[in-house]
Amino acid sequence: MKYFIGNWKMFGIPGSIKILDRINNYVKKDKARSKNYKVIISPPYTLLENFTKSFKNKKISISAQNCFHKNNYGSHTGFVSPYMIKKLGVKHVIIGHSENREAGENNHILKEKVLASVKNNLNIIFCIGENKYEKRKKLTLNVLKNQIRKSLDKKYDFKKILIAYEPIWSIGSGKLPSENELSNIIINLKNFLKMNYNKKHNFRILYGGSVDSKSIHKFKKIKHLDGFLIGGASKSSKKFIDIIKNFYK
Ligand code: PEP
Repeated sequence: MKYFIGNWKMFGIPGSIKILDRINNYVKKDKARSKNYKVIISPPYTLLENFTKSFKNKKISISAQNCFHKNNYGSHTGFVSPYMIKKLGVKHVIIGHSENREAGENNHILKEKVLASVKNNLNIIFCIGENKYEKRKKLTLNVLKNQIRKSLDKKYDFKKILIAYEPIWSIGSGKLPSENELSNIIINLKNFLKMNYNKKHNFRILYGGSVDSKSIHKFKKIKHLDGFLIGGASKSSKKFIDIIKNFYK
C-alpha cells in the first residue's frame, strides 16, 4: 500500500472542498490501481468537521495537521486536543512537522502528543527530518534516529504509525535528495526500527519535500518507500492527481 498524503498547512476555506471532490472522483475512477494506494488530506482545523462528514465512506480520508500534547479538555487557549479531533470522526493526525518543531515543539512535547494521540486511537503521521547544517555534517541518520527514539515508544502499535522522512532543506525548496541517498536512508531507518522496536513489523516510511508531478518520477523506483507527504502540490487537485498518475505511469 502506498500513501499519498496532502498537507495543506495554512490554506483552505469551505469552498476548497471542490479540490477534494475532484481528487475523490479521480480515485473512484482509478479502480484498477486505487486498491494499491490511499489518499489522505490534511486541511486546517477549521475545515476538519465539514470535510470529515463530507468524505465519510468516500475514497479519501481526512487528517488533522497537529494536536495539543495534553488530552481531553483544559485551559489552553487556541489549542485542540486529540480527543476533540477524534470526536469529529477524524482518524489521522500529523505530529512533529518541522515547521512546528521550528516553532518550539521539542522531543518531549512530541512524545506527549504521540501518547495522547495513541490513547485516542488516532493514526499518526510522525515527521522527522534533518536541517541543512546537520546534513552537511553527515549527521542525518543520527538526527532521525534520535527523533524517533525520543518520541516513539516500543509498546506502540506501529500499524497505526507512519513515519514521514522530510528533510527540512527540501521542504518547499525544490531541492531533492538523490535516489541513492533517499534509498539508503529509508533502508537504514527500517533496519533501525526492526532492531530496536519490533523485529516482525513492516514499518512504513514516507518521503516528503518538494514532491510534485515531475520529481515523483525520481522516487518511483525506490521500492521500500511507502508513499509521500505532499505540501505545496496538494493544494491543487490537478497537481495532486498528476503526482498519482505519474507515479503509476
Ligand atoms: C511539507 O511541508 O510537509 C512538505 C512536504 O512541503 P512541500 O511538498 O511543499 O515541500
